[in-house]
Formats: sequence, C-alpha cells, structure tokens
Amino acid sequence: MIDSSDSGVNFHALGFYATGDFDRCATIRQDTAWLVERLQDPYSLLHLVWRGRNLVVNAEIPRAHFLSLLDHRDLIRTQTDVILLGRTSEATYFALDISDLSEDAVTGLGEFVDLRSIGQVTPQRDGALMAYARGLSHWHERHRFCGRCGSPTATEAAGHQRRCTNPSCALQHFPRLDPAVIMRITHHHPRYGERILLARQSNWSPGMHSVLAGFVETGETLEAAVARETYEEASLHIGNIRYFASQPWPFPSSLMLGFTAEATHSDFSLDPTELESARWLTKDELRRSPDDDHFRLPRADSISRRLIEDWLED
Ligand SMILES: [Zn+2]
Repeated sequence: MIDSSDSGVNFHALGFYATGDFDRCATIRQDTAWLVERLQDPYSLLHLVWRGRNLVVNAEIPRAHFLSLLDHRDLIRTQTDVILLGRTSEATYFALDISDLSEDAVTGLGEFVDLRSIGQVTPQRDGALMAYARGLSHWHERHRFCGRCGSPTATEAAGHQRRCTNPSCALQHFPRLDPAVIMRITHHHPRYGERILLARQSNWSPGMHSVLAGFVETGETLEAAVARETYEEASLHIGNIRYFASQPWPFPSSLMLGFTAEATHSDFSLDPTELESARWLTKDELRRSPDDDHFRLPRADSISRRLIEDWLED
C-alpha cells in the first residue's frame, strides 16, 4: 500500500498546494496603472471560484480551468473584486469569486469542483493555484466587516489586503493563516527497534491513522506547541524536536508546520476527547498494513502522509 508509484500519486519535492517559485507579484500589487493594463491584456487569465469550489477542466486528469479574462469581463463588476494571483512569462493570472451568482447562472461556465476531491491527482501547479484562489476567496468572504468597528471593509492591493472604510478607523486586514504543528513521533524500543506513533480521531474516515497535530497558541514557539500537543493528546514526553517541512492546507486556511521528535518512553495515555486510539508501528508493520477500513494512511496530499513516507524511506 505504501508504494506511491502504484497509486497514481506524484509526490512533489515542492509539496502539495505550495506556489513555490510562481511569481506572486508581491512588489507590484499596489501599482494601479500596471494592474489596469493587465486587466485589458488579451493574455491575462481568469480562474473562477464559486462557493468554495474551483472551476476545472475535468478530463482524464482534472486541471485548473483558466479563462480569457477579456472574454469574461462581464463577470467582473468592480475592478477591486479581482484577485491578482501572479504571473509567468506568458500570462498574468487572476481569480474571481462569483459565489453570489445562482447555480443556474454558473452552469454554462463549466464544472466547479471541491479541490479536496481532486487535490491528490491534479498537477502540482494547478493544485497550488486553485488552493491560492480558494484560500483568498474564503478570507474575503469572511472579512467583509471590520473586527474593530464593524464598518464594511474594502479590498486593496489587488485582493491581498482589506481596509476598513470608516475613515476614523481605517484598520488594515491581512489574509489570515492558522499555523498548526504536525509531528512525527518516533521511539526507539530496546526490543522492537524504532517505531512511529500513529493515532486516529473518531470522526476520521474508517481506519485512517495519522501523526499527531494541533494549532499553535498565542505566545508559543512552534517547538513548544509540538511538545504541548504531544503531551495533551498522548501524555508523551519528547525530545530532539526538529523542523521537517511546511505545507499550505487551505481547507480553509491552515499552514501546516511539520516536525519530527523522539519520545522518551513508549507508554502513552490518550486524551479520549481528542483521540480514539493510537499504536506504535515498526517500518515492517507499516509496510504490511492493509489499506482498508481497519487501517489506512492519511491522504496523499497531506503533509502527514509525507512525514510517514519520509520515515519509511529513511
Ligand atoms: Zn474599522
């Protein structure tokens, strides 16, 4: 089950949903003249998001659908509604949330799909751009009003900021990310050798087991969050906490920060409000695991899966 070459899934060095070296145009977002030119450029492309779903070309492999922006100018009511994603040498990429349109009104545009259902198989760059568009659309939808004074907010910086429209407040709002730590806990047992702790929550799909994870709290370092969550969930003390990699998880707005750590003992005790069960597994046990409703690994597009695969390959 662990051999990813059989599953049709590509494990990318960049990781799922990360835009990598895609030019996000961070330094020219505020340049209105440049932006107006791009909105009139026949090579500019537009990706649509409708009620959390992305417009896709659903052929053998589902891909992000980018329309000619000029041909779909009628969908853009005000210029500030458009989100600048970035550019390549060929085109400038924009996104637009058309959630206020009815189902009938969007049917002719193509197929809108929940990225979670295709993220494991869509090409890496397509998944990253769809996640980026979906994540920003979600943030705009949830931040229409100022959290300080309650006045409406308006978009700035080509969709990358909002500002309170009350002149005496004028608070700036930036896209929100929720940092979460996710940690691969291993333990070297004198008899069984090195083992990994995999646990499951009762609301997960049948059999799914994964590494531990939790949100970072205010005033905490990432390492402290790793230690706290591990102790809260499994009563395990850990050491040798090391950063592994990060991955955007835009469902809706998490940034997953992967770590590895070693438990100082193997006896654990679960917090029943967080975890249903957990077990230590050797590499051989994991390789022989069934991939069925009794035991399966997390989704291929998750950093938890990457943490586990990396341990197996080590
Ligand atoms: Zn305000």
